[in-house]
Amino acid sequence: MSVHSLKEWNDLAAQIKPSRQMFVNGRFEDAASGKTFDTINPATGEVIAAIAEGDSVDIDRAVTAARNSFDRGVWSEEAPMNRKAVLLKLAELIRSNLDELALLDSMDMGKTVEDAATVDVPGSALFFQWYAEAIDKIYDEVAPTGPGDLALITREPLGVVGAVVPWNFPLDMATWKAAAALAAGNSVVLKPAEQSPLSALRLAELAMEAGLPEGVLNVVPGYGETAGRALGLHQDVDCLAFTGSTPVGKMFQQYAGQSNMKQVWLETGGKSPNLIFADCDNLEAAADMAAFGIFFNQGEVCSANSRLLVERSIHQDFVQMLIARAENFQPGNPLDPSSKMGAIVSQEQYDRILKMIASGKKDADCVTGGNAIKIDNRGLYVEPTIFDNVQCGSEIETDEIFGPVLSVIPFDTEEEAVEIANNTIYGLAASLWTGNLSRAHRVSRKLKAGTVSVNTVDALSPMTPFGGFKQSGVGRDLSLHALDKYTALKTTWIKY
Ligand code: NAD
Repeated sequence: MSVHSLKEWNDLAAQIKPSRQMFVNGRFEDAASGKTFDTINPATGEVIAAIAEGDSVDIDRAVTAARNSFDRGVWSEEAPMNRKAVLLKLAELIRSNLDELALLDSMDMGKTVEDAATVDVPGSALFFQWYAEAIDKIYDEVAPTGPGDLALITREPLGVVGAVVPWNFPLDMATWKAAAALAAGNSVVLKPAEQSPLSALRLAELAMEAGLPEGVLNVVPGYGETAGRALGLHQDVDCLAFTGSTPVGKMFQQYAGQSNMKQVWLETGGKSPNLIFADCDNLEAAADMAAFGIFFNQGEVCSANSRLLVERSIHQDFVQMLIARAENFQPGNPLDPSSKMGAIVSQEQYDRILKMIASGKKDADCVTGGNAIKIDNRGLYVEPTIFDNVQCGSEIETDEIFGPVLSVIPFDTEEEAVEIANNTIYGLAASLWTGNLSRAHRVSRKLKAGTVSVNTVDALSPMTPFGGFKQSGVGRDLSLHALDKYTALKTTWIKY
């Protein structure tokens, strides 16, 4: 059932007044330079707002505010039970502002408001709730020394955490970093993507309303090459948690080496395989989920199942099943609850997707889609597109497209399927479909991916770690393991 009708969403959108300034030390402020940049709704081409454009001066102000709050102990030295109360309140506030947050993300980056309201915003509330509930149930350790000594092993918050995040799930990507880092007692400087700064600014405001002390969560919108780089190079940032593309992730490793050797954690790109074996019990479900796995969120998903490997005996029939399902994902007005795909985030990303589609048309069979379209004569929309008989090593097979474009590759044997699946620089996620339990175990062990989903796609929860092998990243978001990124182990040895 839909959250609202199109008319209701349109009426709510007309009332939205997004924050335009950066959020530093508990206050909204202009950039020191006075500069702004436009954030644009890709579904309409209209400017939503002129946003304060942070640069190195603003990043420095935000880091100073974060450091002062950390050193004062207003959050870092609070009992975990008290931090829990504030973060639970924030989760509640996210839920009670669901419509507004969903609209901000939908208008900012083109996703359907229905997805934002049923997936992104409830997810953000759940992630804050999960870390809030976890943080006062984690005990430190006492080492097994002999009598006369007491060695304590404690987890200490790191200090100032810089977080740089992408535009595909603006609120959720900010939350994945902030929820774990804040629960552990750190202060945070968050730089949202320039394409989608609005929900992060609202999140900071809600965090203050929940009782987070000033300076503990700061949000500086701005460009990667200026604000992002300044955060990566800052001498007083203890840890940098990044989600985005692999080339930019590598830059953050360099920034750390050029500055203070801050810890760098990376969640980067993917080209995830989805393996369909002929012994799958439910090919209808496999086709439903294969379509969802590539077309959800316009294919702008790091773990999108963009390479579909199908056993040759069922290949032709399965492709026909997929073509039928692609019809259900035709793009539409993101505010219309019947739309299953929205607009592509930006002109740059739209051009890149169309360039990759043109490359695919030279190398493989485009069996459905392959075109840009307009809705009501405007907007950046791309049809759900499927290429069949894609050659291994061709551009659309190797490169992350980050759009609604699926590459289908037939295979003959299990060994061949595993080899093709692993033949990539990435290792974020993989899926496989089989009714054979031994094969499920055998193949999932061989797949080099941070998450392997068996008889489903994109399995994800706050309970389980998420992150990549190979060039898909370093470290894990979600689960208690994410706390390892935001804490350092301290040994205190007492002789008595
Ligand atoms: P991007 O790497 O271009 O940008 C991500 C962030 O980095 C943005 O905030 C941007 O402003 C900043 N940035 C860009 N250039 C920078 C520079 N030179 N120095 C410092 N900061 C810089 O990625 P994107 O286009 O926003 O997002 C898409 C990418 O994100 C895809 O590759 C996708 O796979 C990846 N992603 C990964 C995950 C994951 O969990 N592994 C999740 C979502 C998205």
